[in-house]
Amino acid sequence: MSPHLSYNPRNAMMRTAGSLLLTILLQSATAPDPVAAMAGRLDLAMYKATIKGLTQFGDRRQGTDRNRAAVDWIEAQLKSYGCANTERIQYQYTSQQIRPAAPRADGRGAAPASAVRPTPPTMEGGGRPRGVRAATGVNVDPELQADLKLREVNAQPDTPGLREEVFCTKVGTTHPEEMYIVGAHMDGHGYGEAANDDGSGTALVMELARVFSSPDVQTDRSIRFILWNNEETGLNGSSAYVAQRQSLQGKENPPGSGNYPEPKWLGMIQHDMMLFDHGAPRADGTVSKEQRPEADVNVEFQVSSKLAEQSQALAWVFEKANEKYATDYPASVGSHMTNTDSGPFQDIVPAISLREAERGTQIGMGWDPQWHQPTDVFAMYDDKDFRLGLNAAQTTLAAIAQLTGATLKQ
Ligand SMILES: [Zn+2]
Repeated sequence: MSPHLSYNPRNAMMRTAGSLLLTILLQSATAPDPVAAMAGRLDLAMYKATIKGLTQFGDRRQGTDRNRAAVDWIEAQLKSYGCANTERIQYQYTSQQIRPAAPRADGRGAAPASAVRPTPPTMEGGGRPRGVRAATGVNVDPELQADLKLREVNAQPDTPGLREEVFCTKVGTTHPEEMYIVGAHMDGHGYGEAANDDGSGTALVMELARVFSSPDVQTDRSIRFILWNNEETGLNGSSAYVAQRQSLQGKENPPGSGNYPEPKWLGMIQHDMMLFDHGAPRADGTVSKEQRPEADVNVEFQVSSKLAEQSQALAWVFEKANEKYATDYPASVGSHMTNTDSGPFQDIVPAISLREAERGTQIGMGWDPQWHQPTDVFAMYDDKDFRLGLNAAQTTLAAIAQLTGATLKQ
Protein backbone atom coordinates (compact mmCIF):
# COMPACT_ATOMS: atom_id res chain seq x y z
CA MET A 1 0.00 0.00 0.00
CA SER A 2 1.45 3.36 -1.01
CA PRO A 3 2.13 5.64 1.93
CA HIS A 4 0.88 8.56 -0.19
CA LEU A 5 -2.60 7.16 -0.50
CA SER A 6 -4.21 8.54 2.59
CA TYR A 7 -7.94 9.06 3.03
CA ASN A 8 -9.14 12.32 1.48
CA PRO A 9 -12.81 13.03 2.23
CA ARG A 10 -13.14 15.34 -0.78
CA ASN A 11 -11.88 12.66 -3.20
CA ALA A 12 -14.14 10.09 -1.62
CA MET A 13 -17.09 12.40 -2.04
CA MET A 14 -16.18 13.02 -5.67
CA ARG A 15 -15.94 9.29 -6.29
CA THR A 16 -19.33 8.71 -4.68
CA ALA A 17 -20.93 11.53 -6.65
CA GLY A 18 -19.31 10.22 -9.82
CA SER A 19 -20.59 6.68 -9.35
CA LEU A 20 -24.04 8.01 -8.43
CA LEU A 21 -24.11 10.06 -11.64
CA LEU A 22 -22.99 7.02 -13.62
CA THR A 23 -25.74 4.93 -12.02
CA ILE A 24 -28.37 7.55 -12.91
CA LEU A 25 -27.08 7.79 -16.48
CA LEU A 26 -27.14 4.01 -16.86
CA GLN A 27 -30.65 3.82 -15.39
CA SER A 28 -32.04 6.55 -17.64
CA ALA A 29 -30.47 4.83 -20.63
CA THR A 30 -32.01 1.49 -19.73
CA ALA A 31 -35.17 2.35 -17.71
CA PRO A 32 -38.26 2.04 -19.91
CA ASP A 33 -40.27 5.20 -20.52
CA PRO A 34 -43.30 4.71 -18.23
CA VAL A 35 -45.61 6.46 -20.72
CA ALA A 36 -44.52 4.14 -23.53
CA ALA A 37 -44.93 1.15 -21.22
CA MET A 38 -48.46 2.25 -20.31
CA ALA A 39 -49.42 2.96 -23.93
CA GLY A 40 -48.14 -0.53 -24.74
CA ARG A 41 -50.82 -1.95 -22.44
CA LEU A 42 -53.49 -0.81 -24.89
CA ASP A 43 -54.34 -3.55 -27.30
CA LEU A 44 -56.44 -3.73 -30.47
CA ALA A 45 -58.17 -7.00 -29.50
CA MET A 46 -59.16 -5.66 -26.07
CA TYR A 47 -60.38 -2.36 -27.51
CA LYS A 48 -62.52 -4.25 -30.04
CA ALA A 49 -63.85 -6.58 -27.36
CA THR A 50 -64.98 -3.60 -25.26
CA ILE A 51 -66.78 -2.03 -28.23
CA LYS A 52 -68.37 -5.42 -28.96
CA GLY A 53 -69.50 -5.65 -25.34
CA LEU A 54 -71.28 -2.30 -25.63
CA THR A 55 -73.09 -3.32 -28.81
CA GLN A 56 -75.04 -6.04 -26.96
CA PHE A 57 -77.26 -3.16 -25.77
CA GLY A 58 -78.14 -2.05 -29.29
CA ASP A 59 -78.17 1.70 -29.87
CA ARG A 60 -78.34 2.38 -26.08
CA ARG A 61 -80.91 5.09 -26.62
CA GLN A 62 -81.36 7.24 -23.48
CA GLY A 63 -84.53 6.61 -21.46
CA THR A 64 -84.74 2.89 -22.26
CA ASP A 65 -83.99 -0.36 -20.42
CA ARG A 66 -81.17 -1.11 -22.89
CA ASN A 67 -79.54 2.21 -21.96
CA ARG A 68 -79.88 1.49 -18.22
CA ALA A 69 -78.47 -2.03 -18.71
CA ALA A 70 -75.50 -0.53 -20.54
CA VAL A 71 -74.82 1.88 -17.64
CA ASP A 72 -74.86 -1.12 -15.24
CA TRP A 73 -72.53 -3.09 -17.52
CA ILE A 74 -70.08 -0.19 -17.87
CA GLU A 75 -70.03 0.25 -14.09
CA ALA A 76 -69.32 -3.46 -13.54
CA GLN A 77 -66.49 -3.30 -16.08
CA LEU A 78 -64.92 -0.24 -14.43
CA LYS A 79 -65.01 -2.00 -11.05
CA SER A 80 -63.42 -5.12 -12.56
CA TYR A 81 -60.55 -2.97 -13.88
CA GLY A 82 -59.85 -1.74 -10.35
CA CYS A 83 -61.50 1.66 -10.86
CA ALA A 84 -63.58 0.56 -7.91
CA ASN A 85 -65.17 3.67 -6.39
CA THR A 86 -67.74 4.24 -9.09
CA GLU A 87 -70.36 6.94 -8.66
CA ARG A 88 -73.44 8.05 -10.56
CA ILE A 89 -74.83 11.43 -11.53
CA GLN A 90 -78.64 11.61 -11.53
CA TYR A 91 -80.81 14.11 -13.38
CA GLN A 92 -84.24 14.36 -14.98
CA TYR A 93 -84.83 14.35 -18.72
CA THR A 94 -88.42 15.04 -19.64
CA SER A 95 -88.58 15.17 -23.45
CA GLN A 96 -89.53 12.21 -25.55
CA GLN A 97 -88.45 11.30 -29.04
CA ILE A 98 -91.07 11.38 -31.75
CA ARG A 99 -91.16 8.22 -33.81
CA PRO A 100 -92.97 7.75 -37.11
CA ALA A 101 -96.58 6.60 -36.49
CA ALA A 102 -96.18 3.76 -38.98
CA PRO A 103 -93.53 2.69 -41.46
CA ARG A 104 -93.84 4.60 -44.68
CA ALA A 105 -95.26 2.77 -47.65
CA ASP A 106 -91.99 3.05 -49.55
CA GLY A 107 -90.10 1.66 -46.52
CA ARG A 108 -87.57 4.48 -46.64
CA GLY A 109 -88.48 6.18 -43.36
CA ALA A 110 -86.38 9.29 -42.75
CA ALA A 111 -83.86 8.54 -45.50
CA PRO A 112 -83.01 11.79 -47.28
CA ALA A 113 -84.35 12.23 -50.80
CA SER A 114 -81.03 13.27 -52.31
CA ALA A 115 -77.52 11.94 -51.69
CA VAL A 116 -75.98 15.36 -52.26
CA ARG A 117 -77.11 18.57 -50.54
CA PRO A 118 -76.46 22.30 -50.96
CA THR A 119 -73.70 23.70 -48.75
CA PRO A 120 -74.15 26.60 -46.29
CA PRO A 121 -71.37 29.25 -46.02
CA THR A 122 -70.27 27.99 -42.59
CA MET A 123 -70.83 24.73 -40.76
CA GLU A 124 -71.73 24.22 -37.09
CA GLY A 125 -68.73 25.26 -35.00
CA GLY A 126 -67.78 27.98 -37.49
CA GLY A 127 -65.66 26.06 -40.00
CA ARG A 128 -65.76 26.63 -43.76
CA PRO A 129 -67.12 23.71 -45.77
CA ARG A 130 -65.24 22.30 -48.75
CA GLY A 131 -66.29 19.88 -51.44
CA VAL A 132 -69.43 17.82 -51.84
CA ARG A 133 -71.97 17.73 -49.01
CA ALA A 134 -73.53 14.28 -48.70
CA ALA A 135 -76.76 13.45 -46.90
CA THR A 136 -76.77 13.33 -43.09
CA GLY A 137 -79.55 12.90 -40.55
CA VAL A 138 -80.86 10.79 -37.69
CA ASN A 139 -82.79 7.65 -38.47
CA VAL A 140 -85.91 7.59 -36.27
CA ASP A 141 -87.56 4.58 -37.89
CA PRO A 142 -86.89 1.26 -36.11
CA GLU A 143 -88.21 -0.64 -39.13
CA LEU A 144 -85.16 0.43 -41.13
CA GLN A 145 -82.98 -2.00 -39.16
CA ALA A 146 -82.69 -5.01 -41.46
CA ASP A 147 -81.27 -7.28 -38.72
CA LEU A 148 -84.43 -8.53 -37.00
CA LYS A 149 -82.63 -9.60 -33.81
CA LEU A 150 -81.14 -6.14 -33.45
CA ARG A 151 -84.50 -4.58 -34.24
CA GLU A 152 -85.87 -6.55 -31.27
CA VAL A 153 -83.04 -5.31 -28.99
CA ASN A 154 -83.88 -1.72 -30.01
CA ALA A 155 -87.67 -2.13 -29.79
CA GLN A 156 -88.42 -0.22 -26.57
CA PRO A 157 -89.16 3.50 -27.06
CA ASP A 158 -87.68 6.05 -24.66
CA THR A 159 -89.75 7.49 -21.82
CA PRO A 160 -89.18 10.73 -19.83
CA GLY A 161 -87.80 10.57 -16.29
CA LEU A 162 -84.73 9.90 -14.16
CA ARG A 163 -81.42 9.43 -15.93
CA GLU A 164 -78.09 8.18 -14.63
CA GLU A 165 -74.49 8.27 -15.83
CA VAL A 166 -71.47 6.61 -14.27
CA PHE A 167 -67.92 7.67 -13.53
CA CYS A 168 -64.88 6.46 -11.60
CA THR A 169 -61.78 8.30 -10.47
CA LYS A 170 -58.07 7.55 -10.27
CA VAL A 171 -57.00 9.53 -7.20
CA GLY A 172 -53.73 11.46 -7.48
CA THR A 173 -51.01 10.79 -4.92
CA THR A 174 -49.68 14.32 -4.36
CA HIS A 175 -52.53 16.41 -5.80
CA PRO A 176 -55.81 14.57 -5.23
CA GLU A 177 -57.55 17.96 -5.25
CA GLU A 178 -57.00 18.46 -9.02
CA MET A 179 -58.14 16.35 -11.95
CA TYR A 180 -58.49 15.92 -15.68
CA ILE A 181 -61.85 14.66 -16.95
CA VAL A 182 -61.71 12.02 -19.70
CA GLY A 183 -65.14 11.41 -21.24
CA ALA A 184 -67.25 9.87 -23.97
CA HIS A 185 -71.01 9.48 -24.38
CA MET A 186 -72.46 6.01 -23.89
CA ASP A 187 -75.90 6.73 -25.36
CA GLY A 188 -76.60 6.50 -29.07
CA HIS A 189 -79.48 6.46 -31.49
CA GLY A 190 -80.40 5.52 -35.03
CA TYR A 191 -81.47 1.88 -34.38
CA GLY A 192 -78.08 0.31 -35.05
CA GLU A 193 -75.52 -0.71 -32.41
CA ALA A 194 -73.99 2.78 -31.94
CA ALA A 195 -70.70 0.92 -32.42
CA ASN A 196 -68.81 3.97 -33.63
CA ASP A 197 -71.06 6.72 -32.20
CA ASP A 198 -70.12 6.36 -29.49
CA GLY A 199 -69.17 2.79 -28.58
CA SER A 200 -65.72 3.61 -29.93
CA GLY A 201 -65.23 6.59 -27.60
CA THR A 202 -66.84 4.85 -24.62
CA ALA A 203 -64.56 1.82 -25.07
CA LEU A 204 -61.55 4.16 -25.36
CA VAL A 205 -62.35 5.77 -22.00
CA MET A 206 -62.97 2.35 -20.42
CA GLU A 207 -59.65 1.02 -21.73
CA LEU A 208 -57.85 4.05 -20.29
CA ALA A 209 -59.59 3.47 -16.95
CA ARG A 210 -58.25 -0.10 -17.09
CA VAL A 211 -54.65 0.93 -17.74
CA PHE A 212 -54.58 3.78 -15.22
CA SER A 213 -56.24 1.61 -12.53
CA SER A 214 -53.49 -0.99 -12.65
CA PRO A 215 -51.98 -1.28 -9.13
CA ASP A 216 -48.50 -0.35 -10.37
CA VAL A 217 -49.61 2.94 -11.94
CA GLN A 218 -49.32 6.08 -9.82
CA THR A 219 -50.31 9.62 -10.81
CA ASP A 220 -49.64 12.93 -9.05
CA ARG A 221 -53.00 14.35 -10.09
CA SER A 222 -56.44 12.72 -10.31
CA ILE A 223 -58.21 11.49 -13.45
CA ARG A 224 -61.99 11.08 -13.75
CA PHE A 225 -63.31 8.63 -16.36
CA ILE A 226 -66.93 9.46 -17.19
CA LEU A 227 -69.46 8.01 -19.61
CA TRP A 228 -72.04 10.68 -20.34
CA ASN A 229 -75.67 9.87 -21.00
CA ASN A 230 -78.08 11.95 -23.12
CA GLU A 231 -75.43 13.39 -25.43
CA GLU A 232 -77.61 12.76 -28.45
CA THR A 233 -80.53 14.73 -27.03
CA GLY A 234 -78.44 17.88 -26.53
CA LEU A 235 -75.54 17.29 -24.12
CA ASN A 236 -77.98 16.90 -21.21
CA GLY A 237 -75.80 14.53 -19.17
CA SER A 238 -72.65 16.66 -19.32
CA SER A 239 -74.69 19.83 -18.73
CA ALA A 240 -76.23 18.23 -15.61
CA TYR A 241 -72.75 17.37 -14.36
CA VAL A 242 -71.55 20.97 -14.77
CA ALA A 243 -74.70 22.34 -13.10
CA GLN A 244 -74.44 19.98 -10.13
CA ARG A 245 -70.71 19.94 -9.53
CA GLN A 246 -69.02 23.11 -10.78
CA SER A 247 -69.30 24.80 -7.36
CA LEU A 248 -67.95 21.73 -5.49
CA GLN A 249 -64.54 21.92 -7.16
CA GLY A 250 -61.44 21.58 -5.01
CA LYS A 251 -63.35 21.35 -1.70
CA GLU A 252 -62.07 18.87 0.85
CA ASN A 253 -65.02 17.00 2.32
CA PRO A 254 -65.13 16.28 5.20
CA PRO A 255 -62.50 18.93 6.07
CA GLY A 256 -59.17 17.36 7.01
CA SER A 257 -60.07 14.01 5.43
CA GLY A 258 -57.88 14.36 2.34
CA ASN A 259 -60.96 13.50 0.24
CA TYR A 260 -61.98 15.73 -2.63
CA PRO A 261 -65.36 14.56 -4.04
CA GLU A 262 -64.98 17.04 -6.89
CA PRO A 263 -61.33 17.83 -7.58
CA LYS A 264 -60.63 21.14 -9.34
CA TRP A 265 -61.08 20.72 -13.10
CA LEU A 266 -57.82 21.09 -15.04
CA GLY A 267 -59.20 20.05 -18.42
CA MET A 268 -61.99 18.15 -20.14
CA ILE A 269 -61.23 15.74 -22.98
CA GLN A 270 -64.14 14.25 -24.93
CA HIS A 271 -64.03 11.29 -27.36
CA ASP A 272 -66.78 10.91 -29.93
CA MET A 273 -66.73 8.64 -33.05
CA MET A 274 -63.18 7.37 -33.27
CA LEU A 275 -63.15 4.80 -36.08
CA PHE A 276 -64.14 5.94 -39.55
CA ASP A 277 -62.03 8.32 -41.67
CA HIS A 278 -62.60 7.18 -45.23
CA GLY A 279 -62.33 10.63 -46.75
CA ALA A 280 -64.72 13.12 -48.28
CA PRO A 281 -67.85 12.20 -50.25
CA ARG A 282 -67.36 11.87 -53.99
CA ALA A 283 -69.43 13.75 -56.59
CA ASP A 284 -72.25 11.19 -56.33
CA GLY A 285 -72.34 11.44 -52.51
CA THR A 286 -70.76 8.03 -51.91
CA VAL A 287 -67.79 7.48 -49.58
CA SER A 288 -64.90 4.99 -49.97
CA LYS A 289 -65.30 1.57 -48.30
CA GLU A 290 -61.66 1.72 -47.12
CA GLN A 291 -60.03 3.68 -44.30
CA ARG A 292 -57.96 6.30 -46.12
CA PRO A 293 -54.18 5.85 -45.65
CA GLU A 294 -53.89 9.46 -44.44
CA ALA A 295 -56.60 9.00 -41.77
CA ASP A 296 -55.97 11.09 -38.64
CA VAL A 297 -57.22 11.76 -35.14
CA ASN A 298 -58.86 15.20 -35.08
CA VAL A 299 -58.21 17.15 -31.89
CA GLU A 300 -60.51 20.16 -31.78
CA PHE A 301 -60.93 23.20 -29.53
CA GLN A 302 -63.49 26.02 -29.95
CA VAL A 303 -61.84 29.23 -31.10
CA SER A 304 -64.77 31.41 -29.97
CA SER A 305 -64.85 30.02 -26.40
CA LYS A 306 -63.61 31.99 -23.39
CA LEU A 307 -60.65 29.69 -22.82
CA ALA A 308 -59.69 29.27 -26.48
CA GLU A 309 -56.02 29.98 -25.83
CA GLN A 310 -55.72 27.47 -22.97
CA SER A 311 -57.75 24.88 -24.86
CA GLN A 312 -55.54 25.30 -27.89
CA ALA A 313 -52.46 24.76 -25.73
CA LEU A 314 -54.06 21.57 -24.40
CA ALA A 315 -54.78 20.40 -27.96
CA TRP A 316 -51.09 20.74 -28.89
CA VAL A 317 -50.10 18.64 -25.87
CA PHE A 318 -52.24 15.89 -27.41
CA GLU A 319 -50.74 16.41 -30.86
CA LYS A 320 -47.24 16.08 -29.41
CA ALA A 321 -48.22 13.00 -27.41
CA ASN A 322 -49.58 11.48 -30.61
CA GLU A 323 -46.32 12.14 -32.47
CA LYS A 324 -44.32 10.38 -29.81
CA TYR A 325 -46.57 7.51 -28.78
CA ALA A 326 -49.28 6.67 -31.38
CA THR A 327 -48.26 3.75 -33.57
CA ASP A 328 -50.08 4.32 -36.87
CA TYR A 329 -52.09 7.48 -37.37
CA PRO A 330 -51.19 11.16 -36.81
CA ALA A 331 -53.26 13.84 -35.04
CA SER A 332 -54.44 17.15 -36.48
CA VAL A 333 -55.50 20.18 -34.45
CA GLY A 334 -58.58 22.16 -35.48
CA SER A 335 -60.36 25.18 -34.03
CA HIS A 336 -64.08 24.41 -34.49
CA MET A 337 -65.03 21.94 -31.73
CA THR A 338 -68.83 21.70 -31.62
CA ASN A 339 -71.79 19.46 -30.71
CA THR A 340 -69.96 17.46 -28.08
CA ASP A 341 -69.86 17.01 -24.29
CA SER A 342 -66.80 19.22 -23.88
CA GLY A 343 -69.01 22.14 -24.97
CA PRO A 344 -70.62 22.75 -21.53
CA PHE A 345 -67.06 22.98 -20.09
CA GLN A 346 -65.41 25.17 -22.72
CA ASP A 347 -65.93 28.54 -20.95
CA ILE A 348 -64.96 27.14 -17.53
CA VAL A 349 -61.90 24.98 -18.13
CA PRO A 350 -59.66 24.07 -21.10
CA ALA A 351 -61.76 21.70 -23.24
CA ILE A 352 -61.03 19.64 -26.35
CA SER A 353 -62.56 16.78 -28.27
CA LEU A 354 -60.98 13.90 -30.18
CA ARG A 355 -62.82 12.53 -33.21
CA GLU A 356 -62.33 10.54 -36.43
CA ALA A 357 -62.91 13.75 -38.46
CA GLU A 358 -63.75 17.38 -37.77
CA ARG A 359 -67.30 17.57 -36.44
CA GLY A 360 -68.44 20.63 -38.35
CA THR A 361 -66.67 20.64 -41.70
CA GLN A 362 -66.25 16.88 -42.21
CA ILE A 363 -68.85 14.88 -40.26
CA GLY A 364 -71.32 17.68 -41.01
CA MET A 365 -70.51 17.35 -44.71
CA GLY A 366 -71.37 13.64 -44.69
CA TRP A 367 -67.96 12.00 -44.34
CA ASP A 368 -69.47 9.23 -42.17
CA PRO A 369 -72.43 7.49 -43.87
CA GLN A 370 -73.11 5.35 -40.76
CA TRP A 371 -73.59 8.39 -38.54
CA HIS A 372 -76.90 7.96 -36.61
CA GLN A 373 -77.98 5.24 -39.05
CA PRO A 374 -78.99 1.58 -38.62
CA THR A 375 -75.66 0.70 -40.32
CA ASP A 376 -73.57 1.84 -37.32
CA VAL A 377 -72.95 -1.78 -36.27
CA PHE A 378 -69.75 -3.56 -35.17
CA ALA A 379 -69.60 -5.67 -38.35
CA MET A 380 -69.40 -2.51 -40.49
CA TYR A 381 -65.80 -1.77 -39.40
CA ASP A 382 -62.50 -3.53 -40.09
CA ASP A 383 -59.18 -3.45 -38.25
CA LYS A 384 -57.96 -0.33 -40.06
CA ASP A 385 -60.98 1.47 -38.63
CA PHE A 386 -60.57 0.04 -35.11
CA ARG A 387 -56.87 0.91 -35.24
CA LEU A 388 -57.69 4.61 -35.68
CA GLY A 389 -59.64 4.43 -32.40
CA LEU A 390 -56.73 2.62 -30.75
CA ASN A 391 -54.39 5.39 -31.89
CA ALA A 392 -56.70 7.98 -30.35
CA ALA A 393 -56.55 5.92 -27.13
CA GLN A 394 -52.72 5.91 -27.27
CA THR A 395 -52.81 9.68 -27.81
CA THR A 396 -55.05 10.48 -24.84
CA LEU A 397 -53.35 7.94 -22.58
CA ALA A 398 -49.92 9.40 -23.29
CA ALA A 399 -51.06 13.02 -22.96
CA ILE A 400 -52.93 12.39 -19.70
CA ALA A 401 -50.06 10.30 -18.30
CA GLN A 402 -47.71 13.23 -18.93
CA LEU A 403 -50.15 15.85 -17.61
CA THR A 404 -50.83 13.93 -14.39
CA GLY A 405 -47.24 12.82 -13.76
CA ALA A 406 -47.87 9.10 -14.16
CA THR A 407 -45.15 6.69 -13.08
CA LEU A 408 -44.85 2.91 -12.89
CA LYS A 409 -43.83 1.34 -9.60
CA GLN A 410 -40.91 -1.07 -10.00
ZN1 LIG B 1 -71.56 11.04 -30.75
